[in-house]
Amino acid sequence: MLPIERDTTHYFANGDIVISSVNKAATSTILFRLHKVVLNHHSQVFSDMFSVPEPQAGGQELYEGCPLVHMSDSAEDLHYLFLYIYDPTAILPLNPIPTDSHFNQNHVAILLKLATKYEVDSLRNRMIAYLEAYWPSSLDEWDKLREWYHDPYEWCFRPEPVQAINLANAHDIPSIRPTVFYFLSTIRPDRDLDISEQRNDPDSTSPLAARWNSLGAQDLLRVMQGRQKINDFLEMVNPFLDGDDDIVELPCLMEGPETCSHHLLEFWDRVCLRSFRNLDPLDTLTHFRDLYDGNLLCDHCILRVERNVDRLRDLFWVRTGGYFEDDDDDELIY
Ligand SMILES: [Zn+2]
Repeated sequence: MLPIERDTTHYFANGDIVISSVNKAATSTILFRLHKVVLNHHSQVFSDMFSVPEPQAGGQELYEGCPLVHMSDSAEDLHYLFLYIYDPTAILPLNPIPTDSHFNQNHVAILLKLATKYEVDSLRNRMIAYLEAYWPSSLDEWDKLREWYHDPYEWCFRPEPVQAINLANAHDIPSIRPTVFYFLSTIRPDRDLDISEQRNDPDSTSPLAARWNSLGAQDLLRVMQGRQKINDFLEMVNPFLDGDDDIVELPCLMEGPETCSHHLLEFWDRVCLRSFRNLDPLDTLTHFRDLYDGNLLCDHCILRVERNVDRLRDLFWVRTGGYFEDDDDDELIY
């Protein structure tokens, strides 16, 4: 029999129900003394659980005069759930910051699991809103977060994409999938977070990594196919040469055979090459000035590139979402 301890926060002298749970290390049983009326208010599952006496010989098991209920969730996880139920402002940040050491995607994962299991709808909705803030569907929002996600000094706390995909699958949150899949597709498969953590060097900074081993086979295939579609898209278009109304509005000013077109071709080749290497065309296009020499282009062609880069990133962002879905229709994409 394990030693018994009382939870430091949630053992109320006037509570009328005692919940017992074993800690993760399986070294102690933790007791929570709570109020039925509070738990019932948040959760129909709790309400049903407490209204049925346990069918034991000798009647309901009691602890200090209160009904005693054993729960299979870890004491640490339940502690979080009861923190939310009794004092939500103590744990939930007003504005979710994905790299917050005190509350980040790891905490969301715990609370989302319990909120779903015990049907605490307000908590579940809040956790989904946090995930949508960590993995926004708008490119502007993603651009703001991207720098944090790539910051090697934030690596302990930045949201891990495979965990996010598994949460989206388990809890039916399709809204975050396009952004998570795109981000995961920018991470090299030999950058494995489990291995980085095993090295456990506190002074080292970590490159971008993912828990590749936790990714399901179907989702891994999705990443590979999405990456291929991105590369195909980059190779098939040259947005600065064809298929755009601005070309009519902004004809090249160079006369004769020496137009800017071959410089634009070379520029786009460099965009493709860097994107194949860094796996991140959106980032490549953000830093496109590293890759082209405005001195070689006429004023119209410079304007054409400058105007179209943002538009191209927007278009790419919208299409990318479809590249990682099963019902992606190639004819619509190209
Ligand atoms: Zn030109």
